[in-house]
Amino acid sequence: EVAVLRLGHRPGRDERTTTHVGLTARALGADSVILAGSAGGRRETIEDITDRFGGPFAVETTDEPIATVENWEGTVVHLTMYGLPIQEVESEIRNVAGIDTDADDDFGRLLVVVGAEKVPFDIYEAAAFNVAVTNQPHSEIASLAVFLDRLFDGCELDREWVDADQTVVPQAEGKQVTEPE
Ligand code: SAM
Repeated sequence: EVAVLRLGHRPGRDERTTTHVGLTARALGADSVILAGSAGGRRETIEDITDRFGGPFAVETTDEPIATVENWEGTVVHLTMYGLPIQEVESEIRNVAGIDTDADDDFGRLLVVVGAEKVPFDIYEAAAFNVAVTNQPHSEIASLAVFLDRLFDGCELDREWVDADQTVVPQAEGKQVTEPE
């Protein structure tokens, strides 16, 4: 199980970014997103996409994100530009977290933490791995996308979705969407 924790949402400024953290987590193979504090306001938008385009994908909320991290039963990765390069730690993370991209089911539990504004130092300490996707400043959406793709070694791109109202049929040109009965 892979969950993504969205920290530090600033009302107004971060609405779209928080939605995109949730949608990116869903599209790229995580099982759930946990929205901290006022990020919880984006819950319905993310759930609406799951209702339309399929799942499974869960949206949860918390008012105690540091406790969520400290009490997580499994491995915690915090994405930060100050961390260790992903290319140096990705296989160790898979081993420690028990993520097996060849298995149908994996039993590992991994929490991936992304911030918005300054992330409390408690998170750096509680994380088993502070991981950088380059040591350059960029975005929680970009770092999450690269991290998940590396974690799952691209297998998430072939994922199948259940209970979708709409399915996109890939086209070289134009748009085709089917609505299963
Ligand atoms: N200035 C903030 C700090 O010092 O914690 C971070 C701001 S950044 C816009 C928001 C989030 O994007 C970070 O909390 C981190 O999760 C992610 N992020 C940005 N650049 C990253 C990088 N190079 N590698 C990994 N994560 C990154």
